[in-house]
Amino acid sequence: MVGWVHNLVFYVDKALGRPEVKGSVAALGRFGQRVESLGKLRPAWPLVLVAALAGMSLAIGIYALARPNAVVVEVEGRPIGVARAEAVVRETVAALEQELAAQGWVRPENYRRLTLKPVRAAAAQVLTPEVLRSRLREALAFQVQAVAIQVNGRAVVWVKDRATAEQVLARVREGFVPQDGKVLRVAVEEKVDFISGEVKTSEVATPEEAIQLLREGVPRSQQYTVVAGDSLWSIARAHGMTVEDLRAANPQIKGEYLQIGDELNLVKAQPVLHVVVTREVRVEEKIPYAVKMVSDASLYRGQEKVKQDGEPGIRAVTYRLVERNGAPVVKEEVHREVLREPVTKIVARGTKRIVVASRGGGSGELGWPVSGQITSGYGWRGREFHAAVDIGASYGAAVRAAAGGTVVYAGRDGGYGRTVVIDHGDGLVTRYAHLSRVSVEPGQKVERGETIGAVGESGRATGPHLHFEVLVNGSRRNPLNYLR
Ligand SMILES: [Zn+2]
Repeated sequence: MVGWVHNLVFYVDKALGRPEVKGSVAALGRFGQRVESLGKLRPAWPLVLVAALAGMSLAIGIYALARPNAVVVEVEGRPIGVARAEAVVRETVAALEQELAAQGWVRPENYRRLTLKPVRAAAAQVLTPEVLRSRLREALAFQVQAVAIQVNGRAVVWVKDRATAEQVLARVREGFVPQDGKVLRVAVEEKVDFISGEVKTSEVATPEEAIQLLREGVPRSQQYTVVAGDSLWSIARAHGMTVEDLRAANPQIKGEYLQIGDELNLVKAQPVLHVVVTREVRVEEKIPYAVKMVSDASLYRGQEKVKQDGEPGIRAVTYRLVERNGAPVVKEEVHREVLREPVTKIVARGTKRIVVASRGGGSGELGWPVSGQITSGYGWRGREFHAAVDIGASYGAAVRAAAGGTVVYAGRDGGYGRTVVIDHGDGLVTRYAHLSRVSVEPGQKVERGETIGAVGESGRATGPHLHFEVLVNGSRRNPLNYLR
């Protein structure tokens, strides 16, 4: 009788939210003491007895239905499930501690509060030993002595020990050093140091996980829905983030616990470390060849012939490269050495004048000195023989040499006005008269089509036009027979 009243009082007490039992194993040990201390209520015992007697039949009825047959396990006020009995919880925690301690790196943590609340539960609500064990392991946050890799004063990732941390850092650095070239310097931009501390076992990363986290930031989707078995660390790790990043993105998270179905914001991760590698590489490059033009009197003007093929040379160039996480930042040449000189391409260019093939047949080879209409042809003009063609053109239009040759006259010449005379060789001479401007000098070599002056009306002329004469061996011929 006293036994079940005792239990009933205990149950009511717990249901009213009296101070909870603290701690893990040691706390469980105190569980019984806490129950015993309820005896301090005994000064009020008569009152309780009266109340109990008064409601006896009702209490018996309630008790029959509500008699606790299991315990709700809570950690820090959060229920993690229903266990069959306090002893089961105690044994499970002890086994966990023993097992984790056997792995040589676990230290039971003491600050968390484990609470057991008697409850009446259906058999189906009671956790299996395996589930109870995994939930306890997660919720109790077994701590491990570990080493954090701190970047700019912020603990970014925890690894097993200092040797592992050093190995991780070395591998991140080495990962960005290419195989080729001479490495001059490898530097990490961020300030990196290691600190010892205690964290949940689940927060300790493997070296591979730590390396990936430090090296890379993998962009992921915006939201993540918490599923069974998740922890802040496992979610952060899976998304290339740190726990700090995840917390920063989710200020609603209090403590360590996540509820299945919670939506978390994921922040796009970025590389945590930036490794700057300075190295020198020597590469062989082609040297482009030059092209040289040479005159060749055996070729006609406008003709070209390759006399020597060009061939690129080879040079060895040493570059100093600066790369940040593998991305080139600086490339500068520090040394250059020619291994093989390029071979110049030589092209012969013809200088031979085009021979005026026809001297009266009408299929001449002279170029028109200016484009325009014939305003006065070769032949009698009243009582005067006009031994030239007049080509109408606007004042100032360029007058061009009808063929290559040598200027033999350039200047004023009586009724011709400003005049240029060109000797093309082989007895062929052309005259250009009434110019407004002369732009060549006697003795000057000119090419076919080269500008020698400008159309004008100097001398005996009415209006701007070009008076053009063709002389063969000193006699003036009809220019139309020589113009193309
Ligand atoms: Zn004329």
